[in-house]
Amino acid sequence: MRAAVFRGDGVLEVESVEVPEIQNPDDILIKIRACSICGSDLHVLAVPPGQYAKPGTILGHEFVGIVEKTGTAVTQFRPGDKVVAEPNIRCGMCPECRKGNYNLCRNAVNTGQVRDGGFAEYCIMPEKQLYHVPAEMPDKLGALAEPLACVMNGMMKINPQAYEKVVLFGAGAIGLLFVRALRRYGVRDIAVCETMPSRMEDARKAGADLVLNPAEDDLAAELEKAWGSLADIAIDAVGAGAVLEQIIDITNCGARILIFGQNMTQHSTIRPGDINNKELTITATLSTKNSFGPAVSLLQDPDFGAEQLVTHEISLDDIQKGIALMRSKEAVKVVVYPQQGV
Ligand SMILES: [Zn+2]
Ligand SMILES: [Zn+2]
Repeated sequence: MRAAVFRGDGVLEVESVEVPEIQNPDDILIKIRACSICGSDLHVLAVPPGQYAKPGTILGHEFVGIVEKTGTAVTQFRPGDKVVAEPNIRCGMCPECRKGNYNLCRNAVNTGQVRDGGFAEYCIMPEKQLYHVPAEMPDKLGALAEPLACVMNGMMKINPQAYEKVVLFGAGAIGLLFVRALRRYGVRDIAVCETMPSRMEDARKAGADLVLNPAEDDLAAELEKAWGSLADIAIDAVGAGAVLEQIIDITNCGARILIFGQNMTQHSTIRPGDINNKELTITATLSTKNSFGPAVSLLQDPDFGAEQLVTHEISLDDIQKGIALMRSKEAVKVVVYPQQGV
């Protein structure tokens, strides 16, 4: 089969490799229908990398596929079922897993980073990682289940109320999913901070009532003008260190700040006293926890409109083009179709 293999030092190569075989009784062989490119994939392919992946691994963790074959112990899935996957496999034994914080598992084995992922024609996943999606769900929508599940994990952490004022930094795919989810939660006052004109427009379309340019606008003054208030909730969907510095200045006392995304090359300089002075709460969200079901459910809401995030659809052989489109921010979300002739 064809697969996009990480070779280290920013190199990703599309190669012919063996179709994986079922090894454990709970394994399921999935024929991949679609797999989207994530910001994490760009971090892995950066030099120096912003996230770790093991050389020799097939990348891709945001996928939808059809069950091809099941191990002998599989009970909940059968060939032909359409599935999405929670990519990070937890150990179930470490202190975090035992506390129920399985997304923080210290021994997690991340699909598409240290075990083979979905930029391939086939992938093996243990049964416990899979969720059913309706057969009629479009593939490009199914590929968004994982990023939306990450967003829903964040939504559960900040628990936004309809009357609260939310400022979100970054109108990439994650930011736009947040805007749509916030709308679904009944939040009316949503301001998006973004510097790229096309993404500013995307934010308006997704439902932001105020779109600001942090490079030009006095954010705090603009918020005061529009709302008579600063933010009750601020979400960093950029992951650049400077964003946290800007966030401190645009929050109300007692505000909650959510950090989304992980780029280990970034640093931030903030004054702890500013956090103390406003009694701010800084929280974060890593991966997915109890949020896959809600994401799959939201994706089926015809008014949610997640498919509008997908700006480019390409074949696996064109994955380099897709990565370049993501890097240049010309694309919001690129969906890769790994099957030959699709
Ligand atoms: Zn991702
Ligand atoms: Zn664990």
